[in-house]
Amino acid sequence: MNEATHPASTDIDRSHYPHRSGWIEVICGPMFSGKTEELIRRLRRAQIAKQEVAIFKPQIDDRFSADHLVSHSDSSLPSTSVRSAREIMEKLGNATVLGIDEAQFFGNELVEICRKLAAQGCRVIVAGLDQDYRCDPFEPVPQLLAEAEYITKTLAICVKCGAPGSRTQRLSTESERVIVGAQDRYEARCRYCHEILADDQS
Ligand SMILES: [Zn+2]
Repeated sequence: MNEATHPASTDIDRSHYPHRSGWIEVICGPMFSGKTEELIRRLRRAQIAKQEVAIFKPQIDDRFSADHLVSHSDSSLPSTSVRSAREIMEKLGNATVLGIDEAQFFGNELVEICRKLAAQGCRVIVAGLDQDYRCDPFEPVPQLLAEAEYITKTLAICVKCGAPGSRTQRLSTESERVIVGAQDRYEARCRYCHEILADDQS
């Protein structure tokens, strides 16, 4: 792949873009695939370049830290927890580079907010699950994928067989779509090894 067009390998430098428009980058994949780590990596590069960076995550996600974005491998950046996507607009300040983690918890309102932010010149980097535990599209990430200029799909490693893990295996039988948790409730699996254990399976 051409290095210059791939944000994961080069990080986008706004000065290369003569127009005033912003854009949307989506980092998606299953749990344990390094989405937050990749988001932190891109945001750090922007900070090093002295760009104004703001980082948001939904309040539902307090697994690790209320005011930091923390990846499973322990890299972290200060972040703001918000109750809704609309709150991002209110707390944006002067930021021109925005990181939004756990996009799947924001609902479809996030699509319109990202569109507005990109239209006003922001670089918007969104990370989130593209599928739920049943492998159904987990909105609003699929809608954001359709809207985004740059897409990165991260893969984990299947804990059963070692193949590329594109799916999140829920280890318990609850059928609610959202159950917040980490290692003890979920693991990464490949297409072949993934199974749905939910009670309401039909
Ligand atoms: Zn497997």
